[in-house]
Amino acid sequence: MCKKGTLIVFSGPSGVGKGTILKLFKDDPELKIAYSVSMTTRKKRDGEIDGVNYFFVSVEEFKKAIENNELLEYAEFVGNYYGTPNKYVEDLLNKGNNVLLEIEVQGALQVLNKCPDALSIFIVPPSMEELEKRIRGRNTETEEVVLKRLEKAKKEMECLCHYKYVICNDIPDKAKDEIVNIIKRSM
Ligand code: 5GP
Repeated sequence: MCKKGTLIVFSGPSGVGKGTILKLFKDDPELKIAYSVSMTTRKKRDGEIDGVNYFFVSVEEFKKAIENNELLEYAEFVGNYYGTPNKYVEDLLNKGNNVLLEIEVQGALQVLNKCPDALSIFIVPPSMEELEKRIRGRNTETEEVVLKRLEKAKKEMECLCHYKYVICNDIPDKAKDEIVNIIKRSM
């Protein structure tokens, strides 16, 4: 692990806008970003594509991947499993890509333990009120899940000290510029 390319660990509470920011820089050819597609047991949302957004698998398939040591890290998040396929990431790094893992904090801490040289970035919302507004505005979750995600967000915010960089997503374009500078400096 941790070969040629740089491993980028990208976290932040659910609803903070990680996906929006990512869209703004992931295709910048100078950055050579390869997005690591995770495995999850969560149900597919409208518009999500298997193999693009996630590899959608059953709980049995996920447990098998854990048993076979196929995951670089994994975590349970609000009732579902999420994990990073080891070989997929390794292949991308070996090809010289900077591989970006968009993962929650329990998994991120596992990766940072294994790969201390990884570049770690945590995205924070301008306020918790704004975060709640964004999660609700997405309209993809039930009230129960929204409340669980908000609770989880508070816990995740306590872990930001483990990351090298903390960026506030007030204006996505501005957050994107800061992240692009960080990645360029690390190359
Ligand atoms: P969502 O259900 O909103 O797509 O993702 C929920 C959370 O799981 C997000 O914080 C996302 O970053 C995280 N996540 C996505 N893939 C992985 C993964 O492979 N491992 C871990 N630990 N977290 C992940």
